[in-house]
Amino acid sequence: MSAVSSTPYSPFPVKTHKHRVCVARGDGIGPEITDAVLYILREAGAPVEFEALDLGERAYRAGHAAGIPDAAWGAITTCGVLLKGPITTPQGGGYKSVNVTLRKALGLYANVRPCMALHPYVPSQHPGMDVVIVRENEEDTYGGIEHRQTSEVVQCLKLISRPGCERVIRYAFEYARRNGRRKVSCLTKDNIMKLTDGLFHTVFEEIAREYPELEAEHRIIDIGAARLATRPREFDVIVTLNLYGDILSDIAAELAGSIGMAASANVGQTLAMFEAVHGSAPDIAGKNVANPSGLLLAALMMLEHLGERTTAASIHNAWLCTLEQGLHTADLMNEATSKRCVGTREFAHAVAARLGQKPKVLRPRTVDDADIARLPTCATRPSIAPTAHAEKRCVGIDVFLDWDEPGRDSAQLAPPLQTAAGTAFRLALITNRGVRVWPEGHVQTLCTDHWRCRFLVQEGRCDGGALLALQQRLLAAGFAPIKTENLYTFDGERGYSAGQGE
Ligand code: NAD
Repeated sequence: MSAVSSTPYSPFPVKTHKHRVCVARGDGIGPEITDAVLYILREAGAPVEFEALDLGERAYRAGHAAGIPDAAWGAITTCGVLLKGPITTPQGGGYKSVNVTLRKALGLYANVRPCMALHPYVPSQHPGMDVVIVRENEEDTYGGIEHRQTSEVVQCLKLISRPGCERVIRYAFEYARRNGRRKVSCLTKDNIMKLTDGLFHTVFEEIAREYPELEAEHRIIDIGAARLATRPREFDVIVTLNLYGDILSDIAAELAGSIGMAASANVGQTLAMFEAVHGSAPDIAGKNVANPSGLLLAALMMLEHLGERTTAASIHNAWLCTLEQGLHTADLMNEATSKRCVGTREFAHAVAARLGQKPKVLRPRTVDDADIARLPTCATRPSIAPTAHAEKRCVGIDVFLDWDEPGRDSAQLAPPLQTAAGTAFRLALITNRGVRVWPEGHVQTLCTDHWRCRFLVQEGRCDGGALLALQQRLLAAGFAPIKTENLYTFDGERGYSAGQGE
């Protein structure tokens, strides 16, 4: 058996040239776990040829704000598949996350994260846990659209689209159907975010009707997360928004055993990226102690995606044998089942040495197994339906003001706004951080320098000219609008959140 080099080796051709895949070794522990995984694939004879890309720290240092050299885009698009080690996102300095940029730019809309316990070899609080989280991967607060609007207030926009919801939710149901799963749970916070999370929930209900053989349920994310932590057997496939899915999948991975064991497939219409759930772990980088299992399982999902199910099953079984025989990396060490603590390289050797073996206690994997990921192929992935056109009518405007007069008293703010409203509009409401302060606020409410003032049309047309004229009157009265949001109805239904007292 050839050794895994202790210095990074060039991850080039394995055995055949059948599938060409891009590989980025990443930062921190990335190079050592990637080398370990490529070694196992090579020893297993996986018919994959790798094209190495330099994404992350080196690309940032070379002046690429998103950590991705220009040439890498073409390579990824040509290969269609990327195996990626974890990448460090530099703090501040205008740097963008490589991970988020790749997911959004390449349209990798579904992030599939299986979390399965391997108790007792990997001790878990929930021995029977077997949950797959499908995380929406492109939208939500991950648009990175943030603004500082006043001295005291910053904002982050949460954008949710119907096509975005539709394709990830349909993907979750397709995944459940193709993998013999029984239930899909949707987790949102639509009791508070009625429009954004409400849209995700609505689309979930619509699509669920197309899969009558699958149980479909919706839970509010807070109790849903609590139940996942305490009763994971109540869940099977979970579909949720980007931020919730990000948090939930780390929790689920730890519940199943270790963050170092969790894999992730980022799937789009034509491209796919496979990575571990965890990050670059700078605290243990270069020490040969990291667990390569998360990236290895991601590589097996990649092999399945490429149709190489036999090789994937064979490596999976060798990996199960290694765990079963108590050869554990430091994060998995436990008194009951660990026999020897091994480093990253030794773990890779141990897996490769067990190729062809099957586990004795843990359930062996077969090519027909559905418990990791059997991804719908590009050809069978359903396309999204066009959104029905709705009649859109403007009925007013929310004007956000930076107003910091002494006392910050809304009773002082309202009269000049009413004057500026004229006869065309009426001042309906003033809120501060979303809390109504006029009419009839509460003295206890903390008021910042950031005010939302809602004007509803009273007479005439609520068109661009009328809205601009209102803002000009506000400017003339000495106010400083920092942002506006037009208020629309769609087929007569309110398209904005209600403010009490309107
Ligand atoms: P992390 O996941 O890197 O580390 C969290 C903890 O888990 C650390 O104690 C670490 O030692 C441990 N850990 C992680 N992977 C392990 C493994 N394979 N084996 C054993 N222990 C492991 O999270 P972090 O420290 O918050 O993030 C570090 C960097 O990684 C940040 O720059 C972050 O932006 C980045 N990150 C990248 C990705 C990605 O590339 N997809 C994902 C998450 C975080």
